[in-house]
Amino acid sequence: MTMQGGNRDTGRLNTAPRCGAKTRKGGPCRAPAIHGKARCRMHGGRGSGAPLENRNGLKHGLFTLEEQRRRRAVLDLMRKARATLREAD
Ligand SMILES: [Zn+2]
Repeated sequence: MTMQGGNRDTGRLNTAPRCGAKTRKGGPCRAPAIHGKARCRMHGGRGSGAPLENRNGLKHGLFTLEEQRRRRAVLDLMRKARATLREAD
């Protein structure tokens, strides 16, 4: 039997389950699927999109959702306090 790539034993690799996603050419993707998943690494086998939040991009936390909510609550409290003081006049 002749095989490209010298004498590497690629038998197991060639029997791995295939991805099968539809390619832009219309045919099925023939890349091996991620273990335990139905799709390959290019077709969502590892999940879709970036992980939630950019933890490594944080410098000080001023713009995290939690901090923005806290600031909004403080501003709202101050607004209500001013309104109350105006009524007391
Ligand atoms: Zn694929």
